Amino acid sequence: MTVRVRIAPSPTGNLHIGTARTAVFNWLFARHEGGQFILRVEDTDEERSKPEFTENILAGLRWLGMEWDEGPFFQSQRLDLYGQTIQTLLDKGLAYRAYDTPEELDAMREAQKAKGQAPRYDNRHRDLTPEQQAAFEAEGRPAVIRFKIDDSRTITWNDLVRGPVTWQASDLGGDMVVARAASAATIGQPLYNLAVVVDDIDMAITHVIRGEDHIANTAKQILLYEALGAAVPAFAHTPLILNQTGQKLSKRDGVTSISDFQKMGFVAPALANYMTLLGWSAPDANERFTLADAAKLFSFDRVNKAGAKFDWDKLDWLNSQYLHDMQPAALLELVLPYFQEAGYTVDGSTDRDWLLLLMALIGPSLTRLTDAVDQSRFFFTETLPFADDAKTQLQLEGVAAVIQGILDGLTSQNPASLDDLKTLVNDVTKAQGVKKGLVMKSLRAALMGALQGPDLMESWAILRQRGFDVARLKEALALV
Ligand code: GLU
Repeated sequence: MTVRVRIAPSPTGNLHIGTARTAVFNWLFARHEGGQFILRVEDTDEERSKPEFTENILAGLRWLGMEWDEGPFFQSQRLDLYGQTIQTLLDKGLAYRAYDTPEELDAMREAQKAKGQAPRYDNRHRDLTPEQQAAFEAEGRPAVIRFKIDDSRTITWNDLVRGPVTWQASDLGGDMVVARAASAATIGQPLYNLAVVVDDIDMAITHVIRGEDHIANTAKQILLYEALGAAVPAFAHTPLILNQTGQKLSKRDGVTSISDFQKMGFVAPALANYMTLLGWSAPDANERFTLADAAKLFSFDRVNKAGAKFDWDKLDWLNSQYLHDMQPAALLELVLPYFQEAGYTVDGSTDRDWLLLLMALIGPSLTRLTDAVDQSRFFFTETLPFADDAKTQLQLEGVAAVIQGILDGLTSQNPASLDDLKTLVNDVTKAQGVKKGLVMKSLRAALMGALQGPDLMESWAILRQRGFDVARLKEALALV
């Protein structure tokens, strides 16, 4: 048997972290088994589905490195198939038209509530006589299609993550709607549970891997598989992603979509790596790997049942590891869009050598790509504000003469290399008869406007190529 799995996002929003993590587990399993990973866009909800969300989802999956083997298939282009299947269910007497008005359904639920019962459809239109049906149709009432659920059934499956799962059909809320209301004798828009089963059968899906919020749907879907005489696939329900307080991760936690993470400066391999750890762990306890490496080791035995806490520190740590290991050229490619967005005037080709030096300088201290913007500001702006501690440093005795000495040296010798600049610092230190620490600290205050930052001498050499150092030193001198 060839393993065939699918990711089936609804394009009613950007690619959500939960969907992306589900995609990761599907992808890992497919690759581990040498199977197929299929992309199906569940866009039957015409009002909420938008092409820009589909774009975002496809781009996000590609960005994360999860190419699909088949698809994307669009449910909106498969409506005939769902219609035919619903007709088959109607013909076999396994489904029926129900004509209840919204007011009648509300009244039914109110009555159930008053009796302390859980709300459910009471199957009142299951056995309408042809005369009753005709009367409703004559009234012009629209009809939904309901699939009959036998309340006496117990549904069980052996979940690949959770082990044996059992559901009572009586807990499924009564006969379920499989198509929205349409005028009599027609079939309305098919609903999720029906479309998903029709597609999973048609696409020969062998393993349905999805979030545990779909467990009740699985029970309903198994009844549909049986009604359609199809083999039931294996199911794996992956744990939810939780925030720090143990609630389901939501918009309130500051992120929802993969494109948000992208904007925040996370790199794709780090985020993909992190998502594999949201509910799964490698047998050797290693936490850093590519998707391809994780696929070699992946099995459902090591997927947790308990919710997976989202850990920003771990994601940041992983991201920093990937950034620190990156070659300057690769880093530059990723950082340039952030520079451009920050309004830094750079030309990726003419300034390339200079930018590569800058990447080599800041790369080892980045956690997110966005940090590159802050850490490089000083290289892109001719004049800088001076922080208070930098001002204080510049007021110390002897500092004015040091800065003047450096300025004089720059004018007379025009040093360019790192070594030449180091020689200049040593010469000025000697000539002024001060400690080297004073020179270095003052130079940092003057050039960076702050007392912390990346390596001073390397930063200076890079800054000098832009010609900003003389102006800064003069400005610092004016402060003294
Ligand atoms: N469209 C559904 C969702 O996005 C798919 C669920 C499933 O995998 O069956 O939740």
